[in-house]
Amino acid sequence: QAKEQGRRRAVVYDDGMQSHPLDTLTLSNKLATALNRQQFELYYQPQVNANTGQIIGLEALLRWQDSQGHFIPPSHFIPLAEQYGHITTIGDWVISEACRQIRLLMDTGYRISVSVNIASQQFNRSNFADIVINAVREFDVPAELLELELTERIVMANVEESIDTLNTLHDYGFKIAIDDFGTGYSSLSYLKRFPIDQLKIDKSFVDDLISCDDDAAIVTAIVAMANKLHIDTIAEGVETLDQVNFLEALGCNLIQGYYFSRPLSQPELQKYLKKSVNKDLKVSIPSA
Ligand code: C2E
Ligand code: MG
Ligand code: MG
Ligand code: MG
Repeated sequence: QAKEQGRRRAVVYDDGMQSHPLDTLTLSNKLATALNRQQFELYYQPQVNANTGQIIGLEALLRWQDSQGHFIPPSHFIPLAEQYGHITTIGDWVISEACRQIRLLMDTGYRISVSVNIASQQFNRSNFADIVINAVREFDVPAELLELELTERIVMANVEESIDTLNTLHDYGFKIAIDDFGTGYSSLSYLKRFPIDQLKIDKSFVDDLISCDDDAAIVTAIVAMANKLHIDTIAEGVETLDQVNFLEALGCNLIQGYYFSRPLSQPELQKYLKKSVNKDLKVSIPSA
């Protein structure tokens, strides 16, 4: 029944996973065959400019439904895929699938950028830039419609190599975002050495933004710094109108979170675009 529910709702994780966790090895073996069995699917979460109502992008989020029909959350299987060496194959599929989606959207009249999460082992291969370039070529999509999300931890691990790779990608036209910003090294002075288009302010700062002065101060500082460096900021995990208003007052207009939409399956996305979005990619902003 998890399967049926999962098809209808955007994100349904089997609660039973919590009480009866599959052992690591079993899960890792299942992961090894999941790609061939076509058990992966990308969901897409809209990113919205709350000021204009315009959809500025979609984040591709990986979903895995195992042979029993259980949705296994990325927080469970991504670390395993990294540990057991499956993440590069899976991650390359994600890049390719995202490009297929961008093409599909273009063919149905929507020019929307899609961002993908990149794992450390993926990024650290010497041919990473070639893989990404080949993917956009294969599907004949403009590089600027593909955004790569990397965490601070990943880009800071080998600074000089990262700068080279990111410059190559950025020069080719790809957009670069720093994910979960504020939770990693936060070596702010390094930011100006990387070609970064967007900082994604981590959900942990958004959750208590309104009640916690410290979180508000951190978000204010991130936004101010990013503005000076001509980098966009987008807030992650925004669930309420109060948070939207508060963020806008701090100068952060770009919003991703359940307030606007949960991650959507491919058919749900098509329906959402048809129903809620006009030709200029504007959504009607829900009110309180
Ligand atoms: P992330 O990249 O920071 O993605 C944002 C996560 O926050 C997603 O969780 C999304 O569903 C969730 N989220 C968005 N808005 C809200 C909200 O308003 N409230 C709450 N409570 N949650 C919200 P998800 O899809 O479970 O993914 C978790 C993490 O798994 C991602 O964090 C990312 O680090 C990783 N991940 C997902 N897909 C991929 C992938 O294709 N490759 C790699 N390497 N990692 C991935
Ligand atoms: Mg992300
Ligand atoms: Mg994040
Ligand atoms: Mg994350």
